[in-house]
Amino acid sequence: MAERRTVVLYPHLGPKAGTGHIKRLLPFFSDVRFKVYVIHRNPKFVKEISNKFDIDSERVFPLSEIKTIPDNIDLIVLDNRESDRYLYDKLKNVAPIVAIDEGGDSRKLIPYTIDILPNLLDSRPNYNNIGLLDLNIKEPIDRELKNILISFGGQDPYQLTRKAVDALKDKYSVTTVIGPLFTKKDFGVNKIENLSNLKNIFSNYDLVITSFGLTAYEAAAEGVPVALVNPTQYHQDLSNKAGFYTLDNKFNINYKKAKKLFNNIEFGIKESLTDFIYNLEVSSLGCPICGRKNNSSIQRFKNRTYYHCFHCSVDYMAAHQKDVTYSNNYFFEDYKEQYGKTYLEDFDHISNLGLGRINNILKKVKTESTLLDIGCAYGPFLKAAESKGLTPYGLDVSKDAVDYINNELDLKAINSPFPLSKPLDFNSSFDCITMWYVIEHFKNIDDVLTQVNNLLNSGGVFAFSTPNSAGISSKKSHNNFLKNSPDDHFTIWSPKSAKKVLKEYGFKVYKVKMTGHHPNRFGRYVKGKFLHRLFMIISHVFKLGDTFEIYCIKETTI
Ligand SMILES: [Zn+2]
Repeated sequence: MAERRTVVLYPHLGPKAGTGHIKRLLPFFSDVRFKVYVIHRNPKFVKEISNKFDIDSERVFPLSEIKTIPDNIDLIVLDNRESDRYLYDKLKNVAPIVAIDEGGDSRKLIPYTIDILPNLLDSRPNYNNIGLLDLNIKEPIDRELKNILISFGGQDPYQLTRKAVDALKDKYSVTTVIGPLFTKKDFGVNKIENLSNLKNIFSNYDLVITSFGLTAYEAAAEGVPVALVNPTQYHQDLSNKAGFYTLDNKFNINYKKAKKLFNNIEFGIKESLTDFIYNLEVSSLGCPICGRKNNSSIQRFKNRTYYHCFHCSVDYMAAHQKDVTYSNNYFFEDYKEQYGKTYLEDFDHISNLGLGRINNILKKVKTESTLLDIGCAYGPFLKAAESKGLTPYGLDVSKDAVDYINNELDLKAINSPFPLSKPLDFNSSFDCITMWYVIEHFKNIDDVLTQVNNLLNSGGVFAFSTPNSAGISSKKSHNNFLKNSPDDHFTIWSPKSAKKVLKEYGFKVYKVKMTGHHPNRFGRYVKGKFLHRLFMIISHVFKLGDTFEIYCIKETTI
């Protein structure tokens, strides 16, 4: 059997909340892959609801007692409409959070967001799909308008049932759905009470009148034309966006129009919400440098979320998928796919690039210095360092690469991840430490920079290269820049943020070299030698390279 996951559900409940939010979470209870708890700020109200929806009261906890839940919680699922920062702060250290149709202040803070129903918010979720309602779409019915079903949810906080009945009862056969929390239980027409699933009865009617939300989609899926009455302008705007037919406040029905508009409604790709959430990988790690968890997301994709740390000024990524492992493919097939040749075929070119880097390092240390290249791959930079008189050592997670260095290049390298878990046997400290396009691959920068500081002699040089979040590609479209950023780049730096962070770890920057200048990234107007040259100058002057190298000196031991 599949591994069981413990989820804590937080449904939206309250005086005007309706029952739709708790209802769509009910499938978690019947799914054996989950052990389910419910929490809420108002435990009395939850217990009341738990009786109505037949939820074991031992699985219902007040928010203040979330720590007494007798299981390790894997995930918190918020279906709470608008969650404030207070609630987020209460939950953020308990377990990773997934929010459904979240429209509150915590929308930008929550690790993973799913929008099932359309909304008008300006920030995109990680994933949106109406198909998560998991509806079976049926052919539209084609009948005369006689029987109308009126359903304004479990509660009808805006008393729309009464208004609709009064307007329509003389002209049509009207049936009302009486929700469990209705204050008035009889409207003098046909009524349906205590029905847990409306789905099965929609097709008995020629028209369903409801507000924008779950019921509207459920009825439409059953092939029944829908007319919406919206209590607020917000609901109205959503109805228009989703393409539903809406009634005016006099309840005049244009049945032909209702039937016609009904064909435009999008239902998304059918998908099970419990399956989707079961397979989701969500972590609640904060900034990989300072650890803060209150940073807002800047962009979301289905498999990753980007945040900007206001303290460190670095962008960072939370991945929602299993870790990338660096197999030999990384240096062969994957590399070839990206650069057109394998890493080894590119060896001399990379080694030559290394010579310029060594020159920048030798501005601050003596020629016979020791150097540790972290993430050295097959050793082209070690080769360059050796040719300039330094004593280079390599470190890499790829065993094949390390074997190649030890056997073919006759240089010293060790197969180990970084940060190190035990001291290196060949040397305990170094005059130079380098990382060429490596720092962005670490999930925990704090550990990395602390260990670099500890391994580096005072006055020694630390240098690295990485993509530039302030380069031309990012300036043209930060959204596209993030979209194209690889799945295994966990931090995105700029020279400015690097300077700031390095200072906190005892380093002082003495050189930044902008690299990755590509005139074609300025647009398709850069043709001809003169313009090409001009744009290269602009790119250098305004530090618009898509990558950069940064060189610093260790000033203090931390
Ligand atoms: Zn930070």
